[in-house]
Amino acid sequence: MQKTAIIITLLLNCLFSAKVNSQSPQPLPVRGFCIAAPTHSGMVPFLKYIVNEVAPAGVNTLILRIDYNFEFTSHPELQHPDVFRKADAKILYDTCSRMGIKIIPLINLFGHQSWASKIGKLLEVYPQFDETPDIKLPEKYEWPNPDSLYCKSYCPLHPDLHKVLFDLIDEVMDAFHADAFHAGMDEVIYIGHKDCRRCHRKDRVQLFADEVKRIHDHVTDRNARMWMWGDRLLDGHTTGIGFWEASYNGTDPAIDRIPKDIVICDWHYDRPEPTAPYFALKGFDVVSCTWKKSDVGLKQLDYIRKMRRDSSYPITVHLLGVVQTVWTQTNIFLSELNHPTVPLNPNHLQIGTGLNKPAATDETEQAAFKKVASEWLKEK
Ligand SMILES: [Zn+2]
Repeated sequence: MQKTAIIITLLLNCLFSAKVNSQSPQPLPVRGFCIAAPTHSGMVPFLKYIVNEVAPAGVNTLILRIDYNFEFTSHPELQHPDVFRKADAKILYDTCSRMGIKIIPLINLFGHQSWASKIGKLLEVYPQFDETPDIKLPEKYEWPNPDSLYCKSYCPLHPDLHKVLFDLIDEVMDAFHADAFHAGMDEVIYIGHKDCRRCHRKDRVQLFADEVKRIHDHVTDRNARMWMWGDRLLDGHTTGIGFWEASYNGTDPAIDRIPKDIVICDWHYDRPEPTAPYFALKGFDVVSCTWKKSDVGLKQLDYIRKMRRDSSYPITVHLLGVVQTVWTQTNIFLSELNHPTVPLNPNHLQIGTGLNKPAATDETEQAAFKKVASEWLKEK
């Protein structure tokens, strides 16, 4: 009788745990957070935020947008006075490692070499790398404009470019002992431009694919993995997804010409566009990226979970997770944490968001992050 009772108890335990498991989603490989690196003077509040908010939210992957905000010893000409230092990187790396957070440094390559009326540091120091040297930045930037100027691009065919880029990539990867590097490569509007004697009349698909592969090969040679944003690989005309979230300048067929071991960050901020499985079906690992609308982020999280649950194994393993993004300048983002009802100020946005200005109904980035994170914390 006692033996029977034990067996019944074991069976009930099994049934109970099966029920719990069916209700608790499986942990996602990537629960990500993407934010710009602080300046040196902003390190203390940034570190506090990582410890007090990011780590308890279950984040295991920090995509740190470095760009040219780093103490580059190979190219000190690219530094500014309050630059994020190598010593800061060591402290951040040590802290994140203790909390189980992997850091993926990001330098936004190809496009995004200017923002509004301000030139980026690379083209400021090396104007010869400018794809469109004859297009001057206006004093007061407006979109749309006669030059179709969104952001400047560098010329991927300039013979001296990659020596500089590879030095920068190596330095930030070394600083974080990184086994992955995020190359950005989003919203490349100027490509194969008529103003560039090297690129004019070249096939834009091949120009984009070749640049992706060139960066990829350098990262891979370091036994590391490349990540990038996915918008240039989506066909905007067919999907209607939008000018910044998808390509309208013909780069999207490059999806079939770039290495499949790149991790794609599939970002959609206003609607939960179901494009993650498109990348997975093409053989890429993919994460869905969200911003300031938690209803969009929660649906993206739900899609990823459902697809991981319902797809065949080869597809399941490509759907890695969800990344919450922050596009407000980091010091302003941190200073506004105590005022969660303040709507996003478009003037405080950094490079990388398109020009879709936040509507009054948008949440703060912190509020959206907390809601998405509270859902992925239910994973068992
Ligand atoms: Zn060019």
